[in-house]
Amino acid sequence: MSIAGQLRPCQNNNDSLPSHLLGHSIATRLRFDRHSISSASSDFGHLVKYPPPAAVFRPSRPSDIAALLRLSHSSPQQQPPFTVAARGRGHSTRGQALAPGGVVVDMSSLGGGIAVSPEGMYVDAGGEKMWYEVLRETVRYGLTPRSWTDYLYLTVGGTLSNGGVSGQAFLHGPQITNVYELDVVTGMGELLTCSEGLNPELFFAVLGGLGQFGVITRARIALERAPKRVRWMRLMYTEFEKFRKDQEMLISNKHEAALEWRLSYVEGSLLMDHSLRSNWRSSFFSDGDLARLKHLAFLNQGRIYCLEASYYYYSHAPIGWKRFIFCSYQDVEELLEKLSFTAGFAFANDVSYMDFLNRVHEGEVKLRGLGLWDVPHPWLNLFVPKSNMTNFHAGVFKSIMMHNKFMGPILVYPTSRSKWDERMSAVVPDEDVFYSVGILLSSADDWESLEKQNIEILQLCDRLGMKIKQYLPHYRNQEDWMKHFGEKWERFAAMKRRYDPKAILSPGQRIFAQPI
Ligand code: FAD
Repeated sequence: MSIAGQLRPCQNNNDSLPSHLLGHSIATRLRFDRHSISSASSDFGHLVKYPPPAAVFRPSRPSDIAALLRLSHSSPQQQPPFTVAARGRGHSTRGQALAPGGVVVDMSSLGGGIAVSPEGMYVDAGGEKMWYEVLRETVRYGLTPRSWTDYLYLTVGGTLSNGGVSGQAFLHGPQITNVYELDVVTGMGELLTCSEGLNPELFFAVLGGLGQFGVITRARIALERAPKRVRWMRLMYTEFEKFRKDQEMLISNKHEAALEWRLSYVEGSLLMDHSLRSNWRSSFFSDGDLARLKHLAFLNQGRIYCLEASYYYYSHAPIGWKRFIFCSYQDVEELLEKLSFTAGFAFANDVSYMDFLNRVHEGEVKLRGLGLWDVPHPWLNLFVPKSNMTNFHAGVFKSIMMHNKFMGPILVYPTSRSKWDERMSAVVPDEDVFYSVGILLSSADDWESLEKQNIEILQLCDRLGMKIKQYLPHYRNQEDWMKHFGEKWERFAAMKRRYDPKAILSPGQRIFAQPI
């Protein structure tokens, strides 16, 4: 087994690429110019400083990627294979899509299409497509994928390599459990189609597989009927325990009220008074609302909790969904009566389905205008078991982050483990309900303090024996990766041996540094 954590030594020019690649016909797709190299040398996180790639590869079809990977895999014995990282939009935060001294595949040049099958209720989308593009195409047929990320300018291949989690996951599972079939180019350059029934080992390994087994060039994604509009609510709480009790009730399939109100989306966040305005999720509120929220937070030691829930309206409701056709404000009142938010602090917006799903984009535009988008993002995403949440809240939100002055959303919402598929590579806590906690803070000039805060949080969880799992994980050595995967590690390593034995793919994840 290889020692992970170290990125392979490399040189910073095309001399590090083998002559059999440079002499091959696909070499015309390699780019060495400064612009290409510099845009493939960093990511959304702006945290890691790795050496640049030797080249950027711009494929026009999956067979180009297959040829590239075959050339690396078949490198002569005296020459190590060059590493290859698929790059979706580079929205990773810790160099996961980088390939120091290797080749970055710019997936955006791939000409895969988006083909909707209304009869089959699925869409075939190129791995390079952004979820926004998938949505725009499917709604033309009155259809939509069921499970989302909060932000849609991420790629199909990028989120399926991780999980793809948002407020729909409690109901439909993450994006990886809403996929029927994949086309994958393995680390040996084979182009394989896989699904539950065809090459199932590859299918389950790739989903949540951190780009370790192959490059996803097409995904067949499950669809449902697209709603027309969304009733989008935000309810404020001053007490954490009341907030989480209501969240848990809303995602439960046991509770009567939850069953009656089959919400399509449940999330939540911790709001701190200093960052109420300049946050990419704050466009929901009017200036007047924000002033009231600020005051409420001020009276509550600078923090309040925001439960966010939505339900969808259909113009042609399927059988059994009658109540959604005639949704009125009175319906919302009925639901609100069952919840324990602070009186007078319920807010509702009625928006189109597209606007709802694309809600983060408005915040992005705002932050870009303020020069606050392309800054370091030392984000920490965790899955925290429900049984640890009281301690997590006390130790992290009320203690370590007590005097937090950094900007950005802090997401806190429960989801259901039964909607995840154990056979997939993604790992989640071993408890029926766990929380998705996203500490999505950023700082233009003091990201090191944020990073220290993240380390403190992880150390506290460790000290208190919390069984958390990192989402979008990052580790520096293989021992930590083995701990992360737990019982799944042996299988993960076996799949690596089978589909990318020379450890060519996604070196920026720092899982396998050498051939295994
Ligand atoms: P990249 O960062 O380019 O790549 C990610 C990893 O996947 C790399 O290892 C790369 O080599 C590999 N990879 C990329 N494409 C492929 C492919 N086609 N086949 C195989 N491997 C591939 N995540 C959520 O789950 N929920 C959210 O709500 C959410 N919101 C976000 C909001 C913002 C503003 C940002 C910046 C990120 C958010 N994310 C969220 C995280 C996002 O899922 C990850 O950044 C993910 O990596 C997707 O980004 P990407 O498509 O740019 O992939």
